[in-house]
Amino acid sequence: MFNFSLGSNRSDVDISQIFDVVIMGAGPSGLTAAIYAGRYRLKTLLIEKKLVCGGQLATIAHVENYPGFDTTVSGSHLAQEMEKQAIKNGAWILQGHIESVNFTGQIKELNTPKGVIKTRAVIISTGAQPRMLNIPGEQQHIGKGVSYCATCDGHLFIDKTIAVIGGGNTALEETITLTKYAKKIFLIHRRNEFRADKIIQEKIRMIPEIEFMLNTTVKEIDFGKDNERKILVHTKGQDKTIHLDGVFIFVGIIPNSKPFLDALNLKEGFITSDEDMKTCIEGVFVSGDVRYKSLRQITTAVGEGATAAFSANKYLTEKR
Ligand code: NAP
Repeated sequence: MFNFSLGSNRSDVDISQIFDVVIMGAGPSGLTAAIYAGRYRLKTLLIEKKLVCGGQLATIAHVENYPGFDTTVSGSHLAQEMEKQAIKNGAWILQGHIESVNFTGQIKELNTPKGVIKTRAVIISTGAQPRMLNIPGEQQHIGKGVSYCATCDGHLFIDKTIAVIGGGNTALEETITLTKYAKKIFLIHRRNEFRADKIIQEKIRMIPEIEFMLNTTVKEIDFGKDNERKILVHTKGQDKTIHLDGVFIFVGIIPNSKPFLDALNLKEGFITSDEDMKTCIEGVFVSGDVRYKSLRQITTAVGEGATAAFSANKYLTEKR
């Protein structure tokens, strides 16, 4: 289904026309691609399946490493500014989702519940989503004490005891965000060493509300009986029960690459490309977290979005 997205004042788009470029996903990478494609004066459509733009960026409370801000900036603010800029530069933004694609011809076809969208070039910026632990009790308590977003749910745990599971940048950054709310946080990681950047590790070790549980795995989330909430962990060779109020899980991401499984080359689920963001199919480009690469940051996402739009413009110019 298509609705015009929030900030968009361009309600005149006809989706039966052939676009120069359709960008899938309005995270920082897709939004940057839209800004650049718009400035190249390409007929640009940006499609986002959520009601708001920003993707994972919109859920980050404090962005500390995006150049140009000497204090922190909220992810949702950054995303809103990027969205305004994309619209200002001429991109249309639509809410909707792609079910499947046909990349075989010169004109690429994107199948949506409302019909087929046709375009000369495509930029895939569909991002990634949180990975689940897949342990008993997790699925049925999502939104009822189990969360994957500190910004969204942190306020539910004011003066409570919670656990954060994970050892990457997201887990540690979100733990710091959660210290604004919770009185005590168990930070649980399966190895004895965090994966997160050293600077954030140094910061987190100064916070007294955090109890570190390394070499520890979570076996079960038990929020079942008598409103008693607990998790079962395995630590130091034995099982242990921890009583708490909520669990935040940050154990990595899964790429949103499903519609492209048959059409493109993938590695570990991520879409492969060259350094110009070209995939194995002419006219199809990829950028951001859904791309196979080693560094997933807002900075790399926006850089790749710009490069993808540059490559798409070059491709379209050469085809004319
Ligand atoms: P990540 O870097 O892949 O870290 C995932 C963490 O979860 C790892 O510590 C991993 O443990 C643990 N883990 C994975 N599967 C698990 C399981 N089944 N059970 C228990 N623990 C499990 O993921 P991320 O933190 O979500 O970050 C994703 C990407 O975004 C990274 O490239 C990251 O650098 C980037 N990022 C950047 C920023 C920023 O620029 N400010 C912020 C957040 C994230 P092991 O270490 O043992 O594998």
